[in-house]
Amino acid sequence: MQFARQLLPATLIFQVRPPKTNLRFGRVVTEYQLKQAIVRVARRLDQKGILTSTDGNLSALLDDGGTLITPSGSCKGELEPDKIVRLYRDGSARAGKPSSEIALHRMIYARRPDVRAIVHAHPPFATAYAVAGVPLDQPILSEAILGLGRVPVAQYAMPTAEELAKSVEPLVDHHDAVLLRFHGAVCFAKSIEQAGYLMETLEHVAHIDFIRRAMGSNELIPASEVARLEQLRAAMRAR
Ligand SMILES: [Zn+2]
Repeated sequence: MQFARQLLPATLIFQVRPPKTNLRFGRVVTEYQLKQAIVRVARRLDQKGILTSTDGNLSALLDDGGTLITPSGSCKGELEPDKIVRLYRDGSARAGKPSSEIALHRMIYARRPDVRAIVHAHPPFATAYAVAGVPLDQPILSEAILGLGRVPVAQYAMPTAEELAKSVEPLVDHHDAVLLRFHGAVCFAKSIEQAGYLMETLEHVAHIDFIRRAMGSNELIPASEVARLEQLRAAMRAR
């Protein structure tokens, strides 16, 4: 027997079929891993100054129709996975208080079935554009056209009510990032990592746009090239 084991590749020796009870355990691990991913993205954005104090919120969808969302009033740089609030399909939470801006997240998930994660934050440069009512829609960076697209400004709305969701709703179908007037920004994507990267890119592009305006530059990518880039972006989003 010992000889037979020596002839078998290690991968076969250690392939043990898990007992059926582990399927449930596997589901818990998946939810926990998603909570860990939310915490990782939140800490990264906090370290970059994109999330400050108790501002902003992050959420991600579970396969069973539930939602994971950061708790109300929490510092995102000090989050732990077990503090993430789990909402069930009917919107109820068994423990914890979800972010007050949950209505905004619900509306985006309802309108965009391809979206699996959302990040809302108040990054300084992007929020300055939101305050000024200036959309980030000038074709200044080819990769920003591909990855971010044009970023519009939603009409002003109260930040803690359904009003916020209503103000953003008309812009969700054709954009992946929206500036919230006198407030901040929201980005949405297929994963929490991608939503976090989108928020980082948004802030980076706003910073560059601010600098090139300060330099007095009006240089823009030619319209014919913008059309080609937007075609490529549409093809990438359709995949
Ligand atoms: Zn906010």
